[in-house]
Amino acid sequence: MAEALRARGVRVTILEPGPGVLHTLVDDDLRPLVEAVLQRHGVIVRRERAVGLDDGPGGAVRSVLTDRGERIGCQLVVLAMGIEPNTDLAVAAKVRPGDTGALAVDDCMRTNLPNVWACGDCVEVRRVIDGKKVYRPLAPTAFRTARVAGHNAARRGRGQPKAFPGVVGAAAVKVFDLEVAGAGLRLDEARDGGFEALAVTVRHWSHVPLLPGARPVHVRLVVERRRGRLLGATCLGERGAALRTDVLVPLLWDGWTVDRIRDLDLIYTPPFAPSLDPLIVAANEAAKRVHP
Ligand SMILES: Cc1cc2nc3c(=O)[nH]c(=O)nc-3n(C[C@H](O)[C@H](O)[C@H](O)COP(=O)(O)OP(=O)(O)OC[C@H]3O[C@@H](n4cnc5c(N)ncnc54)[C@H](O)[C@@H]3O)c2cc1C
Repeated sequence: MAEALRARGVRVTILEPGPGVLHTLVDDDLRPLVEAVLQRHGVIVRRERAVGLDDGPGGAVRSVLTDRGERIGCQLVVLAMGIEPNTDLAVAAKVRPGDTGALAVDDCMRTNLPNVWACGDCVEVRRVIDGKKVYRPLAPTAFRTARVAGHNAARRGRGQPKAFPGVVGAAAVKVFDLEVAGAGLRLDEARDGGFEALAVTVRHWSHVPLLPGARPVHVRLVVERRRGRLLGATCLGERGAALRTDVLVPLLWDGWTVDRIRDLDLIYTPPFAPSLDPLIVAANEAAKRVHP
């Protein structure tokens, strides 16, 4: 929204009372890069909470009041405060929600009620990295859970039911020219989940820097300290960041270690990737810090 409004010449202020913009996707150490891009494009980010609105004549919004007692003049307010599952209909029918607030389903997408399956944005799913139930309302989760629920509902009682294997939770956003992508756990999530985890961040290049268009790529890997198992990754950059993150998704699924990742023969071709891909450089750095 900020980008679209700036493209139309609208002045934009983001009020972010939490740890920072995109804090569910990006760890602390890379977040300043995101905020710098916003700033460069004229978006003001303020560490304040909106606590009230002032109406002008005719009921149109005139300003936002913040928890610091500031009044920010405006003509439009966009509330972007996260997403919650709308489970009212299902809960009224006695479908049980899980701890996340989304509907609880088993691996076959069955709810607690006979002959009622659920899928998509209203269900919680299993995170493969640690088995925890999480809420990940994203399109791939919706497609994949829908396929399982549909199959099982259509074949009820006949044949082998399909099971949903879970998610690692990969997502990306574009912040003006910056690709911001993450998969698996952030460092704080890994530690909260009981992992003894460390993180390394490297800055490398999208492709050979002598060639035109090469841009820095920042890779952060979250790794289990003792075994070196990859738990999560974040990639940022103006080129080649989002789809590099995708490379790590199957490795997160299969519990690869950074030692194994650094031995991958990823592409080296000057216009596409440097001789050591940023993922290899990051895995090398992480492997040095792993203590068996
Ligand atoms: C602006 C936006 C951008 C997004 N971008 C991305 C992205 O880039 N990548 C990504 O992975 N995900 C993205 N998502 C999330 C993705 O769109 C959702 O995860 C996905 O659409 C969920 O699919 P769903 O079928 O569960 O729900 P929906 O697509 O919301 O479909 C639910 C349907 O149920 C209907 N419905 C609701 N109540 C009733 C009722 N009582 N009776 C009958 N029908 C009803 C609704 O009208 C709707 O058609 C985005 C979401 C939004 C809003």
